[in-house]
Amino acid sequence: MIKTPLLDLNKSQLIDYLTDLDQPRFRARQLWNWLYQRHVDDFEAMTNLPKSLRAQLAQQADLSLLTPIDTLKSSDGFTLKTLFAFPDGAQIEAVLMRYARRRTLCISTQVGCAMGCPFCATGQMGFRRNLSAGDIVSQVLYYARQLAPRGERVSNIVFMGMGEPLANYAATWEAIRRLNDPEGFGLGARLMTISTVGLVPAIRQMMKEPQQVGLAVSLHAPTDTLRDALVPVNRRYPLKMLMQTCRDYIETTHRRVTFEYALMDQVNDSDQQADELAALLKGMLCHVNLIPLNPTPNSPYGGSPVERVYAFQKRLQAAAIPTTLRIRRGVDIQAGCGQLQVKHNAQRHQM
Ligand code: SAH
Ligand code: SF4
Repeated sequence: MIKTPLLDLNKSQLIDYLTDLDQPRFRARQLWNWLYQRHVDDFEAMTNLPKSLRAQLAQQADLSLLTPIDTLKSSDGFTLKTLFAFPDGAQIEAVLMRYARRRTLCISTQVGCAMGCPFCATGQMGFRRNLSAGDIVSQVLYYARQLAPRGERVSNIVFMGMGEPLANYAATWEAIRRLNDPEGFGLGARLMTISTVGLVPAIRQMMKEPQQVGLAVSLHAPTDTLRDALVPVNRRYPLKMLMQTCRDYIETTHRRVTFEYALMDQVNDSDQQADELAALLKGMLCHVNLIPLNPTPNSPYGGSPVERVYAFQKRLQAAAIPTTLRIRRGVDIQAGCGQLQVKHNAQRHQM
């Protein structure tokens, strides 16, 4: 008998499922609570459910998550990367970063990515398939179950792992609703951030959502000519259109937009380009997140030298653009931004 994967059900589907088992609605809420708030992995532990129901569920329903097949810890011990496998053989990665007070989880929304940014390891893999809402949520619950016995919880979620979240809009948003639901995972929308390559219609759709999650836009270039090369989707949604959409997003949500800018040696890191970027962002409620590029093996792009990174940051700050430098976390386990790519075997050899 094929068991029903409960994490693939949204709340109303779970109610329907339990109704079919002749259970009252409140049982669905109890079960939802065990799944999303108590982080148990065994029906037997669900002590407020009748014993007979627990036995029935154990027979016909499944609580299991993605299968973790490998975990790597960074040398400083603060970053954990887990590789998960699906029954169809596809694999994805998620990364937990443990800061002093925050536990930030970086999760994937697709297996591979179709956007083809040439500096990105996931982009180099190409696109394999979308993840379901259950697959996305499972990455969070996996870490929640790990952290719970230590009295810790996932405090922030960034959709910055493998894939383009807005190219898998419905599943990403269903996951956000479950993660945000006060009766579910209960994480404030403001503690979640979607990073996008800049899919204009989907950003416009986001403006209408009741959950106002943070928006981070991967800019990487201040002009269309350069952005066309670094972020190919720019040909479809060029800068003028993208920036207007971001302005509208800010006006609608009153939220500050983050612009991500990966500094690439002698490609997008000159003082002149910093000035062009400052001009592009002038007057916007935004902030720039500079990331020295994590070079990937199959790309010609290199990371900017550290002096260049500071000079670029200074130049933006001089133009009154709030700018932060993203600390390179987990780079030694290829868990840095854009490095997520399934290289399980290759990595094994390196170690
Ligand atoms: N597809 C989404 C989210 C996943 S990528 C997006 O592109 O925004 C998350 C972030 O990592 C993006 O800002 C992306 O541009 C950046 N990135 C990709 N490859 C990188 C690399 N090699 N070094 C640094 N940042 C990289
Ligand atoms: Fe896809 Fe983002 Fe990588 Fe571009 S940077 S290829 S959009 S994952």
